[in-house]
Amino acid sequence: MGAFAADTTDLHVHSTVSDGTVAPGALLHEAAAAGLTTIALTDHDSTAGWAEAAAEVEASGVTLIPGMELSARVEYTSVHLLAYLIDPAHPGLAAETERIRESRHGRAAEIVRRIERDYPLTWDDVLLHVAEGATIGRPHIADALVARGLAADRGAAFEGILHPSSGYVYGHYAPTPPDAVRLIREAGGVPVLAHPGTRGIDRVIPEDRLRRLVDAGLFGLEINHPENLDETKPRLHVLAAKYGLRVTGSSDYHGAGKVNRLGECRTSDEVLAEILRQGTGTAPIRPGAGARSA
Ligand code: AMP
Ligand code: FE
Ligand code: FE
Ligand code: ZN
Repeated sequence: MGAFAADTTDLHVHSTVSDGTVAPGALLHEAAAAGLTTIALTDHDSTAGWAEAAAEVEASGVTLIPGMELSARVEYTSVHLLAYLIDPAHPGLAAETERIRESRHGRAAEIVRRIERDYPLTWDDVLLHVAEGATIGRPHIADALVARGLAADRGAAFEGILHPSSGYVYGHYAPTPPDAVRLIREAGGVPVLAHPGTRGIDRVIPEDRLRRLVDAGLFGLEINHPENLDETKPRLHVLAAKYGLRVTGSSDYHGAGKVNRLGECRTSDEVLAEILRQGTGTAPIRPGAGARSA
């Protein structure tokens, strides 16, 4: 299922509520300008941007799919699960995301303590780049490094001081991928494995691990993503067909924080419709809906 000209849905977008640089409400207007009719707001481990985004649905004419990108991990490897239409008040999911956000906070502070032994960087520098209540991550540390002249941009920071081999960086708490998938389904959401081909053909998810995610309720694979390597896509399509997984496409837009352009990868109307059928934790927010029900 490729991106047809008619496809106007981008299901993976970040705001200032996590590591994007555009506020949730402004994203809806950027989406309209990009010719999109539907976007999912998928901040890392947070639903805090939903209300502000929803408030701009009417003015922008863009439908909002409330979502999240839930962190998971397998040993030292971080794995991301997109979660659409989850109940934001589900106690298990709310507790887990709070635990992840707290671990991210302590981890970011410790990474900065390690960096500041060698470079002129302080925790206050980093906090300047984190919006109130936002989920913190390495991109915020990168922004502080850029402001201090220690990196040219986020990408350069990730290639240098924030590279896993630098010795400064380590992972935060996150559930296992099968537990993350189960939790998303329990919260009424639709789970999709995010950017499964960014690490190359040798590091595509092993089939036995994928089978465990399918058993836990995985809906789909985000095969059409700007950072998935082309060499991985035939294999990912074979796995999707074998296990009945749907294929999504999304940009993973982070505003000025990444080169990814809003809407550069898209999801078909058919797959969007299936997500809307399966998601029961919350409803999409459509322009005109308020006027009809009034
Ligand atoms: P963390 O949440 O601390 O594990 O950091 C991971 C985040 O950093 C991801 O959500 C990406 O959006 C971002 N990221 C990873 N690599 C890069 C890069 N080269 N340039 C900009 N952002 C990046
Ligand atoms: Fe991110
Ligand atoms: Fe991700
Ligand atoms: Zn993302």
